[in-house]
Amino acid sequence: MKVTLQAEKWSGLAEKALRGELLTQEEALFVLRAEDEEVLTIMQAAFQVRQHYYGKKVKLNMILNAKSGLCPEDCGYCSQSIVSAAPIEKYSFLDKETIVAGAREAMNRKAGTYCIVASGRGPTEKELEQVVDAVREIRDTMPLKICACLGILKPEQASRLKDAGVHRYNHNINTSRDNYSQITSTHTYDQRVDTVEAAKQAGMSPCSGVIIGMGESDEEIVEMAVALRNLDADSIPINFLNAIPGTPLEDRGRTPAMKALKVLALFRLMCPGKEIRVAGGREKNLRTLQPLALYAANSIFVGDYLTTPGQEVTTDHQMIEDLGFEIELCAL
Ligand code: SF4
Repeated sequence: MKVTLQAEKWSGLAEKALRGELLTQEEALFVLRAEDEEVLTIMQAAFQVRQHYYGKKVKLNMILNAKSGLCPEDCGYCSQSIVSAAPIEKYSFLDKETIVAGAREAMNRKAGTYCIVASGRGPTEKELEQVVDAVREIRDTMPLKICACLGILKPEQASRLKDAGVHRYNHNINTSRDNYSQITSTHTYDQRVDTVEAAKQAGMSPCSGVIIGMGESDEEIVEMAVALRNLDADSIPINFLNAIPGTPLEDRGRTPAMKALKVLALFRLMCPGKEIRVAGGREKNLRTLQPLALYAANSIFVGDYLTTPGQEVTTDHQMIEDLGFEIELCAL
């Protein structure tokens, strides 16, 4: 059922978020189920909150796929999983020089954060050492924050990454607890939460987000936002499924752009001071409405995703400039 709120009610939700109060389930569902005609007013409310914490600044992040494919896990959305038939490039862990060269490219693209991502259930000893070595060199020579995303992490591994200079660790909850077994059978929602906690305990900034469009209900989207608020994730990537041919979820349709905007606004209102990133699937799901996303989100990826292309970096830079927003350069 679609619902309509007065403009002042939407801005009332922004004021509530700014007071640090959690929206009720009913209010959160109002956002997700609002009439499309109300999207601009909702984005204005989200912007009220975004502006309070981040002004018009946009953080850029660049991904390096440091190890591609060859993963024994069965995540249904992922082209790199053992059950995927997607024709992707597969390679083992990149050497240190290539990882460091990626950091230089991140600087060229004005990214403040360089995300070293590897496929797999979790890092081997050798892989962890390679990341540690590369991170030390990058931290010594470039003003970049480094985020690692290497799968399930033990507390001792998390401490080694932190000591090497890894600022942030990403491990997404991806979907709701109840929906998790529909998406993956080789690990659990709780194992994902444990890794986020291990990263936090080690002193790294926790990054955890979701993939919208994997059969979850609106109630489950609200549940995910509450879960990430409770996890106190500093950075929350909101991915919208890019259904890749050859993966088990290849037949799922895109999230309509208007719905994607409502989801982004909801996460801004539920997790007001956090870095909300409009992440994978941005181009395909938001299409021509991408600029509006930045009224709720304050962060994007520039360049390609793990196995799918992103839009041109100059187009992203222009989008930010055309909005009158500005790129937030890294201030280490
Ligand atoms: S999401 Fe990660 S763990 Fe899951 S199949 Fe893909 S690479 Fe493996």
